[in-house]
Amino acid sequence: MSMSSLETSTDASDRLKVDQPHGKPVCCPSGKDCTIPIDITLRSSDGIRFGAHKKNLESFSEGFPPVEWTAEKKGEIVELPEKGITLRLLLRFMHNTALAKLWKECSDMDIDDLLAFMDAADKYGVFIALQAGEEALVSRADKMSHEDLLRVLLREASRSSSNIIDEFARRTLCIPTKVGLLFLKNHLQIYMTWSLYRTEWEAWKKEYEKEMTRNHASESGQHWRGNQSCTECEKYRQQLHACLRELEEFPTFDHFTRVEVVLLKFQLVIDTVSWPAVKRCSICNNRLENWKGGLPKLFGSQKRWVDCILK
Ligand SMILES: [Zn+2]
Ligand SMILES: [Zn+2]
Repeated sequence: MSMSSLETSTDASDRLKVDQPHGKPVCCPSGKDCTIPIDITLRSSDGIRFGAHKKNLESFSEGFPPVEWTAEKKGEIVELPEKGITLRLLLRFMHNTALAKLWKECSDMDIDDLLAFMDAADKYGVFIALQAGEEALVSRADKMSHEDLLRVLLREASRSSSNIIDEFARRTLCIPTKVGLLFLKNHLQIYMTWSLYRTEWEAWKKEYEKEMTRNHASESGQHWRGNQSCTECEKYRQQLHACLRELEEFPTFDHFTRVEVVLLKFQLVIDTVSWPAVKRCSICNNRLENWKGGLPKLFGSQKRWVDCILK
């Protein structure tokens, strides 16, 4: 069968023909909705065969499989070093259909399999698959063990660039130094970056705590409301701080803004001893506005992983 007849054929029986001499017909892992003729068979390291489409492999990847393998041959089977679970997932990203939501589908997937899938996506240049893998990885980061967090950190730090490294690096801040040292002992450069990253974050957290708990009234003089000194802006800041702490361990200015919006709404309906509605006066308002003006700079001084790579 010539290449052109494969490309133009939409006959269902044609889709399954190529591999016939070698046994059972193979199917495209994209499912029965895929009507593209199968013109190449891929075999995984654990012996599972998948039907695929050369044109799609070409359009959706940068070299999957390598060009020399896809030279026109009848009943061609390409052996690949990846496992079946990896290829099955990867081939689904080689279709012009809605992207698979890996973070949802693969929430129970073994982390080794997920990482192997990402490695393959990386190797063959299937960037949408890689992105989906990254999303899946980040979505389960909160449930990862220390060791898995460090594994992901090591993987991402070893790449020339990473979109998700800070998500993981921040979560490793609570890991004891010794555990990190033992894990990264053969990766001195990465260990040094990790070390500096931790030092920088520790310093930032101190600065942040200081700023959020500073007593502005005692610094800039008290003012009075009736016959009592007014502490409304202090109360307000304490509430902001408490809410932010609940919401996010590594807050950004965006989190801060969101918390403030929620807090303002919340205060309209709740006024209790432990959560008193804040009745800000104009002096408090000015103080708070000044204070908030300095916050983007504080949040902006958080260090990213790339800032800590020693040149
Ligand atoms: Zn298909
Ligand atoms: Zn006041």
